[in-house]
Amino acid sequence: FPVEDTRNFSIIAHVDHGKSTLADRLLELTGTIDKTKNNKQVLDKLQVERERGITVKAQTASLFYNFEGKQYLLNLIDTPGHVDFSYEVSRSLSACQGVLLVVDANEGIQAQTVANFFLAFEAQLSVIPVINKIDLKNADPGRVEKQIEKVFDIPSDECIKISAKLGTNIESVLQAVIERIPPPKVHRKNPLRALVFDSTFDQYRGVVANVALFDGVVSKGDKIVSAHTQKTYEVNEVGVLIPNEQPTLKLYAGQVGYLIAGMKDVTEAQIGDTLYLRNQPVEPLPGFKSAKAMVFAGMYPIDQSEYNNLKSAIEKLTLNDSSVTVHRDSSLALGAGWRLGFLGLLHMEVFNQRLEQEYNTSVILTTPTVPYKAVLASAKLIKARRAVQKHLMFIDQNRVMLKYLFPLNEIVVDFYDSLKSLSSGYASFDYEDAGYQTADLVKMDILLNGNIVEELVTVVHKEKAHSVGKTICERLKDSLPRQLFEIAIQAAIGSKIVARETVKAYRKNVLAKCYGGDITRKMKLLKRQAEGKKKLRKIGNIEVPKDAFIKVLKTQ
Ligand code: GDP
Ligand code: MG
Repeated sequence: FPVEDTRNFSIIAHVDHGKSTLADRLLELTGTIDKTKNNKQVLDKLQVERERGITVKAQTASLFYNFEGKQYLLNLIDTPGHVDFSYEVSRSLSACQGVLLVVDANEGIQAQTVANFFLAFEAQLSVIPVINKIDLKNADPGRVEKQIEKVFDIPSDECIKISAKLGTNIESVLQAVIERIPPPKVHRKNPLRALVFDSTFDQYRGVVANVALFDGVVSKGDKIVSAHTQKTYEVNEVGVLIPNEQPTLKLYAGQVGYLIAGMKDVTEAQIGDTLYLRNQPVEPLPGFKSAKAMVFAGMYPIDQSEYNNLKSAIEKLTLNDSSVTVHRDSSLALGAGWRLGFLGLLHMEVFNQRLEQEYNTSVILTTPTVPYKAVLASAKLIKARRAVQKHLMFIDQNRVMLKYLFPLNEIVVDFYDSLKSLSSGYASFDYEDAGYQTADLVKMDILLNGNIVEELVTVVHKEKAHSVGKTICERLKDSLPRQLFEIAIQAAIGSKIVARETVKAYRKNVLAKCYGGDITRKMKLLKRQAEGKKKLRKIGNIEVPKDAFIKVLKTQ
């Protein structure tokens, strides 16, 4: 397919502004999918995406479109909108020359509209503003046009007004893609240079790499080399995604497609790697900035015999989501496991849900913590969260953009929910790393009758020590069984006690319900009690069941 008739573009937007719906209409209009079906976000293939109604993984689809007597190949990459997945967005953009920036005609510019615009702007891509949902009763496309002109400096007459839901004016979008986005700058005569921008693991075929070809051609049977590992592979299959895999004989520079080359090990298919032909080495492409984990949590198998299964599930899923960082870890209470780094809380939840749904595992996930970094953000809420205002801009009479420096641990847990409820859903928020700042942090110990419980040592801000300590003590009180003596549960900073709960003494007599007689029944009960004790950990003379740790450490 001629390069000059190829366009590679992405759809970017704030969450819920209609990217996936617009993608459905583009697939229909180009005949890629049947129009008669009830198409709803067809590119959201994962179960977690369909259940939550959000896009988590970027997806690729090749469309063919006839315009003014010529056929064009349009490679569309749908991207997630939520702040936690902006890593997916920047990766997708590296395979594109332009973007459709979708803005809701009712809500106008929101936090991730701004964040995603700048990702595209920095990558020097053509930006086509698309104002969506003009069918809504409260739609005000004129106001949104002015916002776009003010914030992004894009003339308002460049905005395309559509309804993705009703299919209004979708042709103009395709026309703009052809007219305003340049074809990729590539050289088909040069030796192969292919960027791996995504990869998934298929149980039967091994690694399926999504590639964008910058130079050359690749065919089935070619011997290719990974610039990252220097290993050589034979290409078993190449093809395009329309949007399901469709094998072809060759892939040419300027095209986006997939490639299977017998890579078996998940470490062999690094995202950002460059592939070239054996004997024709090339300068590797720049690759990607590695994602920066913002939220950390421990992950453990519920039963240690599941360790190896969970290990391989985590490896396969991180191949598909390379923004997760994994380190081996172990806990006295929970055994061998991992410490995982995520881009945000939603990202953590989605990863956990995918592990359960796609790999059939069940895990213990501990309360997330953060490395102590500060971040930029916008809001109210501010004082209680130790923030400092940095920037203020009025987008129009009704909307203001605020930037604040925040400690990250203040926003990862429930900040987004509080902001939404305080502003009745009107405010939106995005963040980026602003480096480390000094803060008044203390180490907090949890003690049982004066003995430190190493599993529960945490770092907290001095002002929050009391409330955090109280929560942990309360959770522990609820999950510790009564024992023969009283137990004092304390949270302490150095020698200073900041919270305390007490578990009253109680004699657990398992025989209480056996009235006389049956000696075998008594023996059974005593044996069961002894087995139960094996799962206990002794702290001082206090027996702590594994359950109690799980209840204290687990999220919710
Ligand atoms: P995404 O998060 O940007 O991918 O957004 P979706 O495509 O999933 O759409 C979010 C919601 O907005 C869904 O409920 C869509 O049905 C709805 N929506 C999308 N486009 C339109 C539109 O043009 N008009 C109206 N009224 N609703 C739309
Ligand atoms: Mg979507």
